[in-house]
Amino acid sequence: MIVKEKEVKDYLTKSKIGEYAINPYVGCPHKCRYCYASFMKRFTNHPEEWGEFIDIKICDKKIDTKKIEGKNVFMSSVTDCYNPYEAKYKITRNILEQLIDANCRLQISTKNKLILRDLDLLKQMKNVSVAMSVNTLDENFRKDMDKASSIKERLETLKTLNENRIYTILFMSPIFIGITDWKAIIEETKTYINEYWFEDLNLRGSYKYDILRYVKEHYSNIYPIYENIYIKGNRQQLFDMDNEIRDYCNKNDINYSDYFHHEEVINNKENKKLGKNNW
Ligand code: SF4
Repeated sequence: MIVKEKEVKDYLTKSKIGEYAINPYVGCPHKCRYCYASFMKRFTNHPEEWGEFIDIKICDKKIDTKKIEGKNVFMSSVTDCYNPYEAKYKITRNILEQLIDANCRLQISTKNKLILRDLDLLKQMKNVSVAMSVNTLDENFRKDMDKASSIKERLETLKTLNENRIYTILFMSPIFIGITDWKAIIEETKTYINEYWFEDLNLRGSYKYDILRYVKEHYSNIYPIYENIYIKGNRQQLFDMDNEIRDYCNKNDINYSDYFHHEEVINNKENKKLGKNNW
């Protein structure tokens, strides 16, 4: 792992997905196989593989809390602000300390139980929500996909946050058709989740053929579905699954947001607000 400290001028950046984003790191050791953020390498000139480098952002300038008054602040869109290096560097904690009294809507996204270290700060904030990605209950599949916290740890983390009155979002993403048992995940977690977000697997990135190879090797019986959707471009089965999820949520009073139409959602200005977009 290549670890470097880099000075930056400001932690706040204007974001297309929220009004502001804070990414305390560049790179992400969670190394999710389907990570869309790996495109960052193009801009940061890292020769290493995605997941093999991390830049620790150091910034002396205090966050201008006036600038984010009444705004959405998304933490983090192209890294995990609670990646394992946060335990040592505490950059995210330092940022939260600055945001405690800020009058903004803070949305934190992570796959790491380390967020519980900062429960004392989160509890003091007026408007904060935490989204954790969970797309399987099968720990073997999870291990094949990422190096973040186990599913059990993520669910325990969401439960603890909810018990402490932090708004919890289970971000079911990416949903692998035929592999992600979305109904079982909802049933397992619905007592402590305030809102679900659903997003289908998007294979636009360079990881497309790695994922397809993986499905072919490990789930050969459903590979034809993947071939149909992701190679031939026939998305009907995705739309059917989307409708099934919506119906189920509507019938069972499940609070949810649906992001199955990734590109359409991003391009829709109406949805360019926090909680109505992807990252
Ligand atoms: S946690 Fe997010 S940013 Fe990190 S590797 Fe996974 S998808 Fe990418």
